[in-house]
Amino acid sequence: MINKKNKADKLLQKLQKIAMSSLVAKQKVAEVSKTVAEVMSADVFVCCLLADNKYLECLSNFGLDEDIEDQWRADEDEIGKIALEKNSVVINNLDEVYDNFVFGEELRHKNMKSFAGVAIVQWNRCLGVVGIFTKKALAYGDDDLAFLKAVAMFVSDMLSMPDVAEYIKQLQKIKGVAVKDKIKAVSLNKGYGIGQAIIHNARRAITNIFAEDKNQELERLRVAHEQMNDDLDSRFNAAKLGLGEHVDILEAYRMFAKDKGWYKKIADNIEGGLSAEAAVERAYEDMWNRLSASDDAYLKERLHDLRDVANRLLSYLAGDFGKNSVNSAKDIILVAQSMGPAELMDYDYTKIRGLVLEEGTPTMHVAIVAKALNIPVLSKVKNVLAEVQNGQKLAIDGNEGIIYLSPSQDVENKFYKKIAEAERLQQKFAELRKLPSVTKDKQKIGMYINVGLPLDFEYVEKTNCDGVGLYRTEIPFMTSINMPDVDQQVAYYKDLTDVCGKKKVIFRTLDVGSDKILPYWGYKGESNPAIGWRSIRITLDRRAILRKQVKAFLLAAAGRELDVMFPMISNCEEFLEAKATLMLELEKMRKRGLPLPKKVNVGLMVEVPAVLYQLDNILPNADFVSVGTNDLAQFVFACDRGNPQLLDRYDVLSAPFLRVMKDIVDKAKKNNVYCSVCGEMASNPIEALALVGLGYQNLSCNGAAFAKVKSMIRSINKAEVEDYVVSLLNSPRASLRSQLIAYANDHAIEIY
Ligand code: PEP
Ligand code: MG
Repeated sequence: MINKKNKADKLLQKLQKIAMSSLVAKQKVAEVSKTVAEVMSADVFVCCLLADNKYLECLSNFGLDEDIEDQWRADEDEIGKIALEKNSVVINNLDEVYDNFVFGEELRHKNMKSFAGVAIVQWNRCLGVVGIFTKKALAYGDDDLAFLKAVAMFVSDMLSMPDVAEYIKQLQKIKGVAVKDKIKAVSLNKGYGIGQAIIHNARRAITNIFAEDKNQELERLRVAHEQMNDDLDSRFNAAKLGLGEHVDILEAYRMFAKDKGWYKKIADNIEGGLSAEAAVERAYEDMWNRLSASDDAYLKERLHDLRDVANRLLSYLAGDFGKNSVNSAKDIILVAQSMGPAELMDYDYTKIRGLVLEEGTPTMHVAIVAKALNIPVLSKVKNVLAEVQNGQKLAIDGNEGIIYLSPSQDVENKFYKKIAEAERLQQKFAELRKLPSVTKDKQKIGMYINVGLPLDFEYVEKTNCDGVGLYRTEIPFMTSINMPDVDQQVAYYKDLTDVCGKKKVIFRTLDVGSDKILPYWGYKGESNPAIGWRSIRITLDRRAILRKQVKAFLLAAAGRELDVMFPMISNCEEFLEAKATLMLELEKMRKRGLPLPKKVNVGLMVEVPAVLYQLDNILPNADFVSVGTNDLAQFVFACDRGNPQLLDRYDVLSAPFLRVMKDIVDKAKKNNVYCSVCGEMASNPIEALALVGLGYQNLSCNGAAFAKVKSMIRSINKAEVEDYVVSLLNSPRASLRSQLIAYANDHAIEIY
């Protein structure tokens, strides 16, 4: 047992001195070992590093004769288990369990009796373990663990220092662990970028772990907490005024930020002797441990928000809130575990050259915003926050899905060439704006855009498109703090119709569920959400929501033509029921003498395979259909669209899928029904080429991809492409992509 306060102060002063010293990394770690052992009167101190979440490696030890700087599997040893379970352990009967340690023989030989070990955790990622051993029996208790936790906190900062990180890399090199110079990722948006890595919500180094004066720390906490909540409240109120503010995140902030239990926990930690900063971090770790054990998917998702709140409070304590987004670098690559779109907008987006997300899928909000801003996005990069240093140079290849760490001059030169090419292309695309989307054999292809966030609305003017082929109306619902009422909805929708003037706008009714969760709906989670209670299934069951939404469409479209589309329709009756709900609202409005749309067109999305076999019943009742190839492909191939492991497994450019697509367009033509594609296939030039070859005359793509697709269209002879694509429909190959690319190259078709 140590005399806590005095020894703590003494030790911390010494550790800080070591951190600031000009010693090289290895010496620093060795000094820490010696100092902690001395002050804590331990016979042995070890500091182990967890590599690849699998192996443990002793970075430094004090008091063991043998050179134990070796690697061992973490699950083979007591210290490794502490790392894997991110916990802390006291063993006061060490002599009975020597064999549980890889260096147990030496512990036996040295007659060690007690052990205390603590995981070094940084924002819930385990970096390693610090442990002490002594010859005294029954030596350690909770106080020592608390003290060792403070040491671990300090060491975690040290392990993140560039020279220590560099040393660890060198050590790994010597031991034959490959040091990465590039990381494979999943591309969520194409493009190239070079810049300095900015770790979003990077954990702050805490230099004052123990409280000098408890009352002063409690007062600092009170003031910072109050300021944070005041600022959040005013942001919250401002967010009510309009869109574009990622209010669900804000709401989660508020929920955690105002939580009395959390505040009390921090205050208790200060009472226990920690500084306000260390107390916040400890409270975060405790809450994280509790919440992450829960099975509730929604709660688990909120863990990211919890970290944001803790980090936010730390920045108020440091008095530098809002300054983290200021960076002098001209080109930045944002690196985050995950982030909301509003957080992306906190940065100067004109400087963002790339976004790397540890966790993310293409339908994630932030990916949608980044696409609209033409920022390359890479995702599914496990442990990226551990691999990348703040300020490190990165080169992002969004086409191949590769992140180059500290790229060589050669790689940089190649990147600058590609970036210059991309800029030239943008120039060329801008000139396309005034030209019609007509093939060489004079066939008009209707070209529309997909929109969701207000940011996308700008593309109506930028692209000079024929209209909006898909308005994902769930996006404004997702960025709202609670269910928007009819008036609010009318305001959202009018924003778009005002921008579009006379151009066609297809409003899709709420397509929520699966991975699109409304924060205010208390989503319970399902075992198969993509084929669960989602989309039209929800809105038909909760009819009032659908009624309100179609009423808002009708009101917003007064005096113009209105196109309403129902998503995820599985059979004819479902469509007729949804359509009847719309017609009922129209009738009510007519009776009340309200201003009405000039004409109302009703359509459906074809994305559930079953509906293909009732199209003959549905089409006579529909004004249009639009194919949602994202969902349709996932159901046709029985292949989760959000699972990166399956990303390249099946190809929409294969005979089975193209035949499905051909069936749809043929049936629509036979019934004289307008038909388009609004899934991502329409946004990819080579895939759009196949669609035109199948007979599709209308495509709706994302704004950033529009010009590429238009340029492809203007370079083809439609009749020839049709002959070619139809000739592929009996092919046994799993993918026709390379054949189509070869065809495009042979016929000077522009596929950028
Ligand atoms: C689709 O499924 O192709 C589609 C356009 O809808 P979403 O991507 O919004 O599910
Ligand atoms: Mg869909």
